[in-house]
Amino acid sequence: MAEHHRNRIRLLDQATVNQIAAGEVVERPASVVKELVENSIDAGATRIIVQLESGREGITSARVTDNGCGMGAEDARFAFTPHATSKIARIGDLDRCRTLGFRGEALASIAAVSHVTLVTMERDGGQSATEVIIRGGDLEKVAETGAPTGTTITVSDLFFNTPARKKFQKSVGSEVAAITRTMEAFAITNPGIAFLFINNGNERVSTEGSGDLFDTIVALYGSGVADELIPVSIAEGPLSLGGYVSKPSLSRPNIYQVFVGINNRQVYARAVVDAVRAGYGTLLPDNRYPVAFLSLMLDPAYLDVNVHPAKRIVHISRERDICAMVTGAVSRALKGADLVPRVPGGFHTLQKSDPTGNVSRGYDHQVRPGPGVAEAGHGSFLLSDRRLRQSELSGGTAGSDDGVPEFIYLGQYNGAYILAQAPVGDLLLVDQHAAHERVLYEQVTASRDLGQEAQELLIPTILTLSPAESGVLREYLPHLQEKGFSLEEFGKDTYAVRMVPVILGKPGDGEMVRDIVGDLISLPRKHGTDSGEQLARTIACHGAVKAGTVLTSGQCQRLLNQLSRTNEPWTCPHGRPVMVSFTRDRLDLLFGRK
Ligand code: ADP
Ligand code: MG
Repeated sequence: MAEHHRNRIRLLDQATVNQIAAGEVVERPASVVKELVENSIDAGATRIIVQLESGREGITSARVTDNGCGMGAEDARFAFTPHATSKIARIGDLDRCRTLGFRGEALASIAAVSHVTLVTMERDGGQSATEVIIRGGDLEKVAETGAPTGTTITVSDLFFNTPARKKFQKSVGSEVAAITRTMEAFAITNPGIAFLFINNGNERVSTEGSGDLFDTIVALYGSGVADELIPVSIAEGPLSLGGYVSKPSLSRPNIYQVFVGINNRQVYARAVVDAVRAGYGTLLPDNRYPVAFLSLMLDPAYLDVNVHPAKRIVHISRERDICAMVTGAVSRALKGADLVPRVPGGFHTLQKSDPTGNVSRGYDHQVRPGPGVAEAGHGSFLLSDRRLRQSELSGGTAGSDDGVPEFIYLGQYNGAYILAQAPVGDLLLVDQHAAHERVLYEQVTASRDLGQEAQELLIPTILTLSPAESGVLREYLPHLQEKGFSLEEFGKDTYAVRMVPVILGKPGDGEMVRDIVGDLISLPRKHGTDSGEQLARTIACHGAVKAGTVLTSGQCQRLLNQLSRTNEPWTCPHGRPVMVSFTRDRLDLLFGRK
């Protein structure tokens, strides 16, 4: 017993300490790539190449090659020691620190949980380069070799000795998407560096490094995005802000294309992202986000970068003031700009190769509501009616309007809730969007061959996606096809949408595919949800009538009829309630009748 007490606490050996520390810095392959590229930037590289190899099982190797300053033989070996850094000497240096790294932890952490090969040649370092091989933190080889100036680090077998970590890795698709997003952000924050990112031999991101942000944006996203941007530039007190934000005609359902670098760092600064969004005020509907490429420079004394092991989060002092300045700058830039969208709704139609040519002025192409004009007026009535009828068509109408309806329509509240009476007499409040979502979801999942119920778009819609979006799209492509979409890839990250499923109800809106892809990227996938399931939920959500849509009594009753025929009318595919009910007793109680 006594002995037991004495021995309960002991010091961990260094290898264990390193593995624990590694968990904080390298959570996933994307963090490895981020740390290695940051080192290349710190080494003054002007060209950085990232090569990824991945298979079904996961990412098998990541290689980063730069033309930076390189390392001598001693440093090359020493770089893998925990807390070894060339960037700061004492904590006070942090206030002046201009490099991305300073903790001296990345290489040690990565090497502790993988197999690393480093080849480096110091600038003006004489004849020979150095090769270092480390596996699970153990030095396996140091040798002289030949190589051009710069550094190449190859990481493979990631997490081979930390099986628990390995088990919790996300799907290859989402990992590649995360890395692609990271590379886009690096390119945007460093327009002076040429980046090349290759996944399994396919070029995903490629920039020239001309030093011009606009050129970089064109290289990444094409002129479709670049043409919709307006410049922002201010210098106020400790802050200077520069870059581009989108006109309201170009928006996204998530924050993935809001890039805000702070002092040339990629960080997650939600407050600043929200400040950018706030600059749009009512120019964007609540659930939409702009596209933005902004660089925020702060006096380093205002920024604490040492609050997160992977440096993903920073502390900004006087954050509220800084955010208010950001909001003001964005709002002024928008006020000064000509915001009339060139193409209604900002979607791109295929003009030249369109065989039907002048049919393009048809009804279907003016229906897409402009941003901010959340589906009001006659056009939106037609739209929601069409949507509702479409789901009815594919659901079959047996027992709908002829028999006695199960839920009896009483009224609509606020364009969002339907009041109805249940068979047992309870009062129901039905969330119209959630209800329609449930109906569509069951239809999408029930019919295996929805492909037959696809409608061809008169004019194919061209989607120019970001490299990250297109990576995700590729993962979902077979499922999209199965569900009635027809997409054709032509050119890098560019797709023509030729058909959409009938239940989406709105021909001419191939752009909806972009929103669907946007959601697929941003919504965290619940454990065990496969791609087909995720897609079904997303399609249902996008096809469903929105809250805020005034419906006629006929439309409401039809929706109630459809809902009563679903298997699980009580919750939407995301698990939120579709309806709440009040018994007569409960109401009597509320009114003091009992
Ligand atoms: P930190 O970046 O915080 O200093 P790291 O573990 O990432 O810590 O790197 C340790 C050291 O290795 C760096 O300080 C730098 O001197 C050297 N180093 C790492 N990567 C490179 C590279 N690509 N080129 C030149 N030197 C590098
Ligand atoms: Mg580093």
